[in-house]
Amino acid sequence: MRRFGFSTGALARGDFRRALELLRIHEIDAVELSALRLDEFEPLVSAITNLDLRRFSFVSIHAPSWFSPELERGVVNDLRLLAESGYPAVVHPNVIYTPEMWNELEGKLLIENMDKRKPIGRTVSEMRQIFDSLPAARFCFDIGHARQVDPSMTEASLLLNVFGDRLTEVHISEVNTASRHDPISWNAIKAFQSVAKYIPENVPIILEPLIDQGQSQIETEIQRAREALTTFSLAST
Ligand SMILES: [Zn+2]
Repeated sequence: MRRFGFSTGALARGDFRRALELLRIHEIDAVELSALRLDEFEPLVSAITNLDLRRFSFVSIHAPSWFSPELERGVVNDLRLLAESGYPAVVHPNVIYTPEMWNELEGKLLIENMDKRKPIGRTVSEMRQIFDSLPAARFCFDIGHARQVDPSMTEASLLLNVFGDRLTEVHISEVNTASRHDPISWNAIKAFQSVAKYIPENVPIILEPLIDQGQSQIETEIQRAREALTTFSLAST
C-alpha cells in the first residue's frame, strides 16, 4: 500500500501548525513540513522538537526555495541538525551554491526536479550535473513538474529510470502553465498512470495541490493521487 501525505504549505500557507491540525482527522501517516519561504524556516526549525509528529511514519522538511549565497552556511547547519534528528530535506537545485557544504547532509538531502521556469534541474541531463557533485544525495521526484516540462511523460519516465535508485519521495499535483500547484485533473491522472509502475510502493507520496482557499478537499485529492499512482500487477488480476 502506498503512503500518501500532504505538504503543510498546500493546506495552510505559512502556518504548519494549522495544517497539522487539518490533517489530524485524516488517516495520513506522511507529511512534508513546508518552509518554502525563507521567513518560514527559522520558526519551523525552532518549533519542530515541540511538534507532535509521532503519528507520521515519514516526515520531511521542504527547505526555502530561495535565499542568497551568504545565508547558505546557516541554512545547511540548520538542515544538518534536522537531518541528525532523522528529517530529510527537500531542496531545489538553484540554492546549492556550494555542493561540498550540502554533502554534509549525506542521504538526508533530497534534490527535487524543477518546473520549466528554472534553468536547471528539469531533465535527466540537468539533474545528472547536480547529482554528479552530490554523490550521496537522494531524489524527490515532482511528477507535476516533470509533466509540465514534458507533457508526453517521456522525461518523467527517464528521470525515474535513471535516478530510481535514489528515489525517496514523490511530489504530486497538477502544475499549471503559470507553475502553480493545482488540484489534480483527470488528464494529469491519465498522464501520471503511465509512469506509476516506476515508483516503488514504499516511496511516500506527498500531495502539493493548493487547497488553502477551498479549491478542493484533502480526501478528494488523496483519492485522485491514489488513482493516478495505482499499479495493477498482472498476477493479481
Ligand atoms: Zn519544491
